[in-house]
Amino acid sequence: MYDINIIIEQYVSIEQAVRGVMEQQCINFCTCCPDACCRLDYCLESVESPFLRMIIDRYPPRCRFDQQHGWLTTDGCCLAAGRPPVCYKFLCDRQLAGQPNEMHRYILRVLSSLISHLGRDALGGRHLVEIATVDELNKIRADRFDRRRLETGAALLAITTFFKTHYLNPGERQILSQVIALPESIAEMEKQ
Ligand code: SF4
Ligand code: SF4
Repeated sequence: MYDINIIIEQYVSIEQAVRGVMEQQCINFCTCCPDACCRLDYCLESVESPFLRMIIDRYPPRCRFDQQHGWLTTDGCCLAAGRPPVCYKFLCDRQLAGQPNEMHRYILRVLSSLISHLGRDALGGRHLVEIATVDELNKIRADRFDRRRLETGAALLAITTFFKTHYLNPGERQILSQVIALPESIAEMEKQ
């Protein structure tokens, strides 16, 4: 029998680590960006998902949910944890075009997909945040979550190493391919 409280702690610990790395990578693009990419329908996912609501209850946001602006304040998102996976997954053209090459774009895509990967298929084909009731949350496949958690942690480590060394060894490539397959265009380029 698993304990949902432990799953929440493990999920949040990875979410916050992913967010830290994403903020480091995106700060040059997002600071002073004129385009508002946060959307109320994204914010609403966090109040509609029982799993994210449990996280938000446990890790209180810096503001109250606003019917017009969701969790967005003049200082950015006020959630301490429990942002919907789509908030990480979204990458804009400015971020992608600003990467030095295809490999960096690939790494950024994997990084932005880690929270989606972490909760994937927690119950049947549903992500943890898509599970509709607390009763169903009690039926999630803990072994599957554990596997995803280990894969996600290993991928995050490979990504942080890449940002320091600009190199991925074969083992790290394999780890990242569990999240998103390495594009053939990169493999082809490296053969040349
Ligand atoms: S993700 Fe893109 S659109 Fe959104 S704030 Fe950052 S740079 Fe701007
Ligand atoms: S990052 Fe925060 S404010 Fe922005 S869309 Fe997501 S939940 Fe809403």
